[in-house]
Amino acid sequence: MSISSSLSKRDLSVLWHPCTQMKDHETLPLISIKRGEGIFLEDFEGNRYLDAISSWWVNLFGHCNPIINAAIKEQLDTLEHVMLGGFTHESAVVLSEKLLEVAPKGLSKCFYSDNGSSAVEIALKMSFQSWRNQGKLKKTKFVSLENSYHGETLGALAVSNVALYKQTFAPLLMDVITVPSPDSYHRELDELSRDYAIRQFQAMDAVLSERADEICAVIIEPLIQCAGNMRMYHPYYLTLLRIACDNYHIHLIADEVAVGFGRTGTLFGCEQANISPDFLCIAKGLTGGYLPLAATLTTDAIYQTFYDDYHKLTGFFHSHSYTGNALACRAGIATLGIFQQQGIIEKNKQLAKIMWAAVAPFKEHPNISDVRQTGMVVAIELVKNKQTREPFAWQERRGLKVYQYALTQGILLRPIGNVVYFIPPYIITEEQIKQLATVAWQGIQIAVTD
Ligand code: PMP
Repeated sequence: MSISSSLSKRDLSVLWHPCTQMKDHETLPLISIKRGEGIFLEDFEGNRYLDAISSWWVNLFGHCNPIINAAIKEQLDTLEHVMLGGFTHESAVVLSEKLLEVAPKGLSKCFYSDNGSSAVEIALKMSFQSWRNQGKLKKTKFVSLENSYHGETLGALAVSNVALYKQTFAPLLMDVITVPSPDSYHRELDELSRDYAIRQFQAMDAVLSERADEICAVIIEPLIQCAGNMRMYHPYYLTLLRIACDNYHIHLIADEVAVGFGRTGTLFGCEQANISPDFLCIAKGLTGGYLPLAATLTTDAIYQTFYDDYHKLTGFFHSHSYTGNALACRAGIATLGIFQQQGIIEKNKQLAKIMWAAVAPFKEHPNISDVRQTGMVVAIELVKNKQTREPFAWQERRGLKVYQYALTQGILLRPIGNVVYFIPPYIITEEQIKQLATVAWQGIQIAVTD
């Protein structure tokens, strides 16, 4: 038996994989990865897979990046971890300083955790408690958008709106206020995305003005609803939302777990609307895709609502064992260093153009209703009927066929439902983008043919 099949067999007898119907693996082989290098993952047979989705959107500068490797090794020989309760270390301090330098202005405190869902939970809890500490006891509700996704833990899932993840657990979840999304896919044929965003904002404004007394915060994914089929919207929606939140005394939580660190073309999506949120949630790319680290950034004004004598019990009594882990923080510092030293955001502008040129012709395909892009993210929507935009039935699992075909061609693509997308590491080359587009096109052809 080859190493791959033996590993896979051992795996299936002891592991339970994320977001997977494990029975699928009766027919769908697990891929055992031996090593990673740059944009490639390599299995035990020497097959290489171009990681076109950055291993669930985390990897920014390639696998086993020499700069991040060196930084982690150095940290490893100095300090691997110390609890952040009552203690601190240089990497946590330096990373916080550097993050606050590049984050939207007005954010001045970092609270660490170790995954995106936790960063969201923390923002929700902080928002609620901040109002409570100010005597606003009626503020107990959160507002989020249709088709939004903010994570899998119960609080984050409650403010999410993707049925596949949420429906089963609905009886366990807190009540949230859901408003229509500005998702440009649904605009009228001749309608500009900006006009659609303004039109869709009316529903948000109505809720905020009517229920301001009850609402702690609005939580939103800036510019792209990633897990919600990579749907995109105009930044002006965020501008309007910031103004409304200020007017009605409601916090704004920007969940940049997926879109942060350059995915939208700017370091943070909020920049494109020229806004600063009250809370910024970041994770995934924060360590370049190396180690689990997340942060919830907030303002001094909010921090001050917690700052008082101990016996008043206004402190934020929330912790995770690995808060501010030293190895992860050091990877974060190295990641921010690469952005700065290598002018990544500027360089990505060219890559984004190449990505667009590679996929724009897909628009003509009879089973593609939309090809869209925001910065370093492109998405291709497969439909049964181009005119009516009737989707393929989800049970047909067309995206899975693209995934399976792409693997045979040495590409890791993992469509969400019927949406094929690219979120590559920023080290991708022009040649690789072209290859990716060719394979995606071929995979789509196979997937849409009955
Ligand atoms: N928020 C958004 C916008 C996300 O896309 C995700 C993960 N895909 C999360 C939160 C949750 O992050 P994690 O998987 O690290 O818990």
